[in-house]
Amino acid sequence: MQATLPPFRNEAFTDFADPQIKENMTAAIAAVTAQLGRTYGTLAAEQVVSVNPARPAQVIGTHAAATPAEIDAAIQTAQEAFATWSAGSAQERAALLVKAAGMVRERHLEFCAWLVLEVGKNWAEADADVGECIDFLEFYAREALRLDAAITPIQFPGERNQLRYVPLGVGAVIPPWNFPFAIMAGMTAASIVCGNTVVLKPSPDAPTVAERFVALMTEAGLPGGVINLLQGGAEVGSALVESKHVRFIAFTGSKKVGLEIHERAARTQPGQRFIKRTILELGGKDAIIVDADCDLDAAVEGVAVSAFGFGGQKCSACSRAIVDERVYDAFCDKLAKRVASIQVGDPADNAYGAPVINTAAFERVLRYIEIGNAEGKLIAGGTAVDTPGHGYFVAPTVFRDIAKDSRLAQEEVFGPVLAVLRSKDFDDALRIANDTDYGLTGAVYTSSRAKLERARREFHVGNLYMNRKCTGAMVGAHPFGGFNLSGTDSKAGGPDYLLLFTQGKSVAEKVGVVSAHDEEEEQRMGL
Ligand code: NAD
Repeated sequence: MQATLPPFRNEAFTDFADPQIKENMTAAIAAVTAQLGRTYGTLAAEQVVSVNPARPAQVIGTHAAATPAEIDAAIQTAQEAFATWSAGSAQERAALLVKAAGMVRERHLEFCAWLVLEVGKNWAEADADVGECIDFLEFYAREALRLDAAITPIQFPGERNQLRYVPLGVGAVIPPWNFPFAIMAGMTAASIVCGNTVVLKPSPDAPTVAERFVALMTEAGLPGGVINLLQGGAEVGSALVESKHVRFIAFTGSKKVGLEIHERAARTQPGQRFIKRTILELGGKDAIIVDADCDLDAAVEGVAVSAFGFGGQKCSACSRAIVDERVYDAFCDKLAKRVASIQVGDPADNAYGAPVINTAAFERVLRYIEIGNAEGKLIAGGTAVDTPGHGYFVAPTVFRDIAKDSRLAQEEVFGPVLAVLRSKDFDDALRIANDTDYGLTGAVYTSSRAKLERARREFHVGNLYMNRKCTGAMVGAHPFGGFNLSGTDSKAGGPDYLLLFTQGKSVAEKVGVVSAHDEEEEQRMGL
């Protein structure tokens, strides 16, 4: 391991327009298709069956769901592994992340293909997910080294003072299905690089790609017991949250489940010897403000891609466009045309419009379309779309004239449904934007410096974007996390993130007590 790593740089996006890369991606999808339908683990009564949302008859993988005994065993294994893993050096742990990043990079298209098939991402969306996974591995490796080298500048006379960032213990990592590679790997990597061990429970909608990641980590040299993979749904997740041995919970998912975890983790179990820490990143009802003075075409484009990239199934997706009444009609007309041009279809063929993830999501989105029909005026989409694979497709849907307190303006749909609201002026737009339980991302389109500055101060979101889309956060440049009920604002991919996976231990040693020889020895050891 080099003592220092080269500066962090975001992974470049893949250019699928290049005929050679396109051919390679087609080959990767064919190669992964040949591996579909396998079983993972010894199948018992409970199984997690993952299917392709674009063709639900295609089984991606069948996984054994963890039994209560297996959950206990995984936690115990993680506890045992913690003793040795936490005693290792930050350098070794960081080196492992960098090695894993290199291996994902080498197999980039293969992982993209798993994402296309398991969760229905188009090629560019899958590429962004894999690139972000690499970024998290590389970034957290560097951050762990930085924390490890942190010095304590104030020294009390007659003492040697140190603040060390030590690991917490065993963590439960519970990711969502929608960034099943980047978020799953990111929360896991942040945990283990700090010296913690984890039980990882992926979403039942994306179990296979997690299985492939854990296999890669093992290949990269990760010792047994550091990442313990359990498959299953809410029952497995809640058992982990309630375990008296689980020191922290890194969760990304819905507001409902996140708040439940927050409450349950707060209840001290008999025999529990610590206060559990929760790192919770939840949903959004993200708004884009379109001011009358902006470049309207740019705003239409920004809203369309923020709302309908990956079928609106991003926590950062724009689900409210708040448009100044002076440009409202023109905006709605342009947007309706732009959205009507989005083709839904099989992500394996690289269609832009993605399926929603499962039958429950399909029904939920169609219910919200009914609500939208009652609350506003439909100007694009509004129906399910049948495809040769009979996937869970819904046409990108836009409702205009949605009132600010209506359900479509307040509830997270998590699908391809956008509400357009009318504002009287910029003050009104900011008021509407902030009138929500959430506070994750937001964007403003305006050519006014003064309005941008007001948004900088008054638009209450964790990730604010100006004159650009509100999706596509980049590791390092856009540390990610939300305000209000959107989460604990953990700022994944930022310089403070790893602190959440450590505890600070302050040590004060009186100097001159141990022999000079021992002191020299300790200095050599970096103590
Ligand atoms: P979800 O809340 O349904 O599930 C998330 C995870 O929690 C899954 O692994 C699930 O199996 C598990 N789970 C479910 N019930 C549980 C329980 N009672 N106890 C413990 N674990 C439980 O969310 P989802 O559908 O997978 O993901 C979509 C949601 O995630 C959306 O609301 C989206 O906005 C949000 N999200 C947020 C961010 C962010 O960074 N803020 C990023 C991606 C997704």
